[in-house]
Amino acid sequence: MGVLCLGTPLTWEETKNHADHVRNHGIIQFIHTWHRVKDRTGDELLWGDEVECMVVVVDDEKKEAKVSLRQAETLEELGKIVGTLSNDTSPSTPVAEFHPEYGRFMLESTPGSPYTGSIAGLLSMETNMHYRRTLARNHLRKNEILLTLTSFPRLGTVDVFTEPHYDPKDAKSSRSLFLPGEITHPHTRFSTLTANIRNRRGSKVVANLPIFRDERTPQPFVDPTIPWQRDIYPEDSEAKNGAALIDHIYMDAMGFGGGCCCLQLTFQCCSVNGARRMYDALIPVGPLMLALTAASPIWRGYLADVDCRWNVIVGFVDDRTREERGLEPLKNSRYIIPKSRYDNVSLYISSEWANKPAYNDTVVPYDEAIKDRLLSHGIDEMLSKHIAHLFIRDPLIIFSETIHQDDSSSVDHFESIHSTNWQSLRLKPPPPGSSMGWRVEFRTMEVQMTDFENAAFAVFIVLLSRAILAFKLNFYVPISKVDENMQRAQKRDATRTQNFFFRKNVVPQGYATPAAGLAPSGSSTPSECGDCGMATQMKERKLRNCFPTLARPPTTDDGSVEDEYEEMSIKEIFCGKGPTFPGLLGLVDAYLGTLELTPVERKKIDKYLDLVRGRADGTLQTPATWIRSFVRSHPAYKFDSVVSQEINYDLLIAIDRIERGTLCAPELLPEGYSQPYLNGFH
Ligand code: ADP
Ligand code: MG
Ligand code: MG
Ligand code: MG
Ligand code: MG
Ligand code: MG
Repeated sequence: MGVLCLGTPLTWEETKNHADHVRNHGIIQFIHTWHRVKDRTGDELLWGDEVECMVVVVDDEKKEAKVSLRQAETLEELGKIVGTLSNDTSPSTPVAEFHPEYGRFMLESTPGSPYTGSIAGLLSMETNMHYRRTLARNHLRKNEILLTLTSFPRLGTVDVFTEPHYDPKDAKSSRSLFLPGEITHPHTRFSTLTANIRNRRGSKVVANLPIFRDERTPQPFVDPTIPWQRDIYPEDSEAKNGAALIDHIYMDAMGFGGGCCCLQLTFQCCSVNGARRMYDALIPVGPLMLALTAASPIWRGYLADVDCRWNVIVGFVDDRTREERGLEPLKNSRYIIPKSRYDNVSLYISSEWANKPAYNDTVVPYDEAIKDRLLSHGIDEMLSKHIAHLFIRDPLIIFSETIHQDDSSSVDHFESIHSTNWQSLRLKPPPPGSSMGWRVEFRTMEVQMTDFENAAFAVFIVLLSRAILAFKLNFYVPISKVDENMQRAQKRDATRTQNFFFRKNVVPQGYATPAAGLAPSGSSTPSECGDCGMATQMKERKLRNCFPTLARPPTTDDGSVEDEYEEMSIKEIFCGKGPTFPGLLGLVDAYLGTLELTPVERKKIDKYLDLVRGRADGTLQTPATWIRSFVRSHPAYKFDSVVSQEINYDLLIAIDRIERGTLCAPELLPEGYSQPYLNGFH
């Protein structure tokens, strides 16, 4: 969530009237940005993670667990202490940052400054994550625990699930049947966002997740805990009038999605073209990482038949009107929009030849006037279309104090639209007045229960992104297939049961050497940026960040791409298939072979990669699978899909103990990894 500025947020009725103003000035701001940074090159690899977590109050006697709504207090105390703790190597930079999040029980933490591209930088992340966790923990009360858990299993049950308790009947912004307004961060930004999404849409937001059918789950399942007859707000009747589906877990408020915790990574790229190619390459990786990190099988106290948060958030920021959703003919709305504001991206955006038109094979509405305007400023077709597509959305929050801005120095209006497109990838332009370059954010992963796992997935993605540059990898498949993969990724036990569309040949011709499998493109390859070539990086033992130009192969290509991809298992995609497809781990391994790593460094990296491999080949469970089987083997579980207060308490305590290294979970973490800080792994 962006910076919280002070101000008076406008209601939806008022916001609507300023939408064109915000779009117009947002585009002017982007054009200013473009002219400022379009030629910027040579930026080194800097990168950072965002880890979201939740604070839970436990009552060991009653065996109860509730989310703790003390975010503001905790953040204030952390804010005081963070300023006083500085980095060993660079005393002026803080070691950690803490940010508020949508849920009043959540915290987000990031490193105080980005990691560099050095091997040491890569290997310092887990320590930093653990430091942040410990720092936050030190500011909790005795009965509070801090969990990096994707969703709180009993959020929105009929029981008490917040501390202190509030009644949902006062949820004026969301009108939820289940969540009180107090679940939301108290800054008006968040309640306004909630109300404006609902008002723009014209009804409450909704998500229905299929219930997990256990031996004694009633069939059909009609949820007895929904207050079907409540009659406080006009929206109360929506549930009984069709919004709540039979055999599903019905949820009706942004808090269910905004209350989810995830793991995000941001990389600085050497140039805008490098960033666009990285963005494209990571698009097909998004759903695969969602499947591997799946961690949220319980919703509103029920086991679901899905393992991930993704579709929940898709539903909960879906501000599209009925017309935009294609349910009514267009009259007041301008476009039929196939996707929510939160979803897989809709366009590959590189302007290179490798990005064939056939890959962008879905309907992508865009604002033609905006696109023309961007074109007229010399911005190319693909990037113009990308921005014009994001700008079909209305702004969701406008503060009366900041309607009029200096467009040459502010990007607030641009970000007002840009950063409320919550998609699988985000291209972040360099902000004014900062040293940051073009960055790409990878946003699909669910947060893992331990720092070790979070670090492992982050390290894997960083290394994969470097392999993409080193070997000029090509991962393009049609975007419709990535959309389909995104749905498959969320299915129960997806890593073991689903196949995913993936490209058969990812190494361009001329780069596959039979012996080593792969050869890096090397410093002799023409590169867009002068000073971040491979040679320097090798000398300084830095991870690669330079962007080699892709030579167009001689081709009789007819533009069709159907033969380029096939369905593969997660195991094949990660561990390889046949002599020509090394798998993503094989690619990472080949990249590591080009670095001069010490045995200690290599061993440490291999431990991370072992976790990824274990998840991919099925020898290790995803957190979702582990959580589901914990519930199903709990003595109090009645095989009716219900996750009771007691089961939930035991589950969260177990997760906390796994993280602390006092409980082994060999199905989840390889033997010996379960006590990383106790037995000297790190
Ligand atoms: P947002 O919530 O807008 O996605 P945050 O500020 O919460 O962004 O997190 C951004 C992440 O990017 C942090 O981990 C931060 O350390 C990292 N970061 C900061 N500067 C750079 C940079 N120049 N290049 C890459 N990453 C950066
Ligand atoms: Mg966040
Ligand atoms: Mg953030
Ligand atoms: Mg931010
Ligand atoms: Mg982010
Ligand atoms: Mg740990």
